[in-house]
Amino acid sequence: MNNRKRRPTIPLYLQILLGMAAGIIIGIIALLLHVETFVSHWIMPWGQLFIRMLQLIAIPLIFVTLVKGVVGLKDISKFSKLGTKTLLIYLCTTAIAVSFGVGAGLVVHPGDLVNKDIAAGLQETYQNVIAEKALAAEQVQGKGPLSFLNDIVPGNIIHAAGNNSNMLQVIFFAILFAVAILLISQEKAKPVIDFFDGLNDVILKMVDFIIRLAPMGVTALMAGLVTDFKGDGSIFSALGLYAVTVAVAMFVIMFLFYPLMIWLFGGKIRVKDFLRAIYPVQLFAFTTSSSAVTLPVTMKVVESELKVSKEVSSFVLPIGVTVNMDGTSCYQAIAILFIAQVLGIDLTLSQILTILFMTILSSIGTPGIPGGTYVILAMVLTSVGIPAEGLALIIGIDRPLDMLRTAVNVTGDAAVASIVDQRQK
Ligand code: ASP
Repeated sequence: MNNRKRRPTIPLYLQILLGMAAGIIIGIIALLLHVETFVSHWIMPWGQLFIRMLQLIAIPLIFVTLVKGVVGLKDISKFSKLGTKTLLIYLCTTAIAVSFGVGAGLVVHPGDLVNKDIAAGLQETYQNVIAEKALAAEQVQGKGPLSFLNDIVPGNIIHAAGNNSNMLQVIFFAILFAVAILLISQEKAKPVIDFFDGLNDVILKMVDFIIRLAPMGVTALMAGLVTDFKGDGSIFSALGLYAVTVAVAMFVIMFLFYPLMIWLFGGKIRVKDFLRAIYPVQLFAFTTSSSAVTLPVTMKVVESELKVSKEVSSFVLPIGVTVNMDGTSCYQAIAILFIAQVLGIDLTLSQILTILFMTILSSIGTPGIPGGTYVILAMVLTSVGIPAEGLALIIGIDRPLDMLRTAVNVTGDAAVASIVDQRQK
């Protein structure tokens, strides 16, 4: 018999919040004792290590998640009408959510609250990376209108996967690869699919290890942030406004956009009933911060309360967990704009359009787990020409925002399942 009591573990979200507080305290003490170099030499590297680990896993994660996602669509041929409809609606809601995020980030401009001198110092730190990216952008402008095809189709996949800024090329290869799996004989495809199933679990386990480092990473990054900003509170007001912008955007999507969709296309479902039914799912997603963990609850509620048929819910919802992340994509857009604003990077219209496009695609590759977006965000930042180190600015306060965006993600899945179901009837 095992009499050993298990030590109560502090939940990860609490560890992250404690890490955030510890980082701020360490930073303030370092400033008071004038030992900022100690922080930059001995503490910050742990935060940078965390960011590097996120970058490390990004390409394998995107590749495997996408292959698994596309291969999972094999039932589409069976439900061809249902599949196309579902994917189209998912794509539309994500595009609207991202556009809304871009709009909110551009209108509110939370990054402007950062003290100008400090922002100038940060720009100096990242000058080389920013200049390099600006040069690359200029070179692109000199090319013909179809040059973007070169950014999508890699000439060499090893080369493409060797650079985190080539996200689109990796996505292209993954989709081509997965479609080919769907088109070969089942007998040959089976071992490959099984292999990717296992690989997916392995990669998610690795992501899990890395996310467990988040409290350490957040402590170090927060301490670094406080010393980098020399105790200037403006970063915290900017972060506050950024968090409020994200929160308002999430509430608007959850309580205005989805109800409007249900009202317009939800057939017999009344908005009031939808909101009442979905409330416990939102709470569950909010507390777990994982749309994948919430999936069984979403399924149960959608079937029993919103009377969605099992056939539709078991097809639409699992796909939604991977493909449809409206909260995450809207959040990513605001986060990228915020980092660019703090680092003083003026985004051109074409860069903003790239952000729009990238965030729609990248939310597909984001796993439905707590902090799943960090991994992807590090890569999207690099691909749109913003130093991934900018992530350090926002990771510290991410957990509450993660809880909110997960609630949005699951509400979106449930709304689309209800609409698809009503349209079937
Ligand atoms: N936690 C989110 C989810 O599970 C993913 C993310 O945005 O980090 O839906």
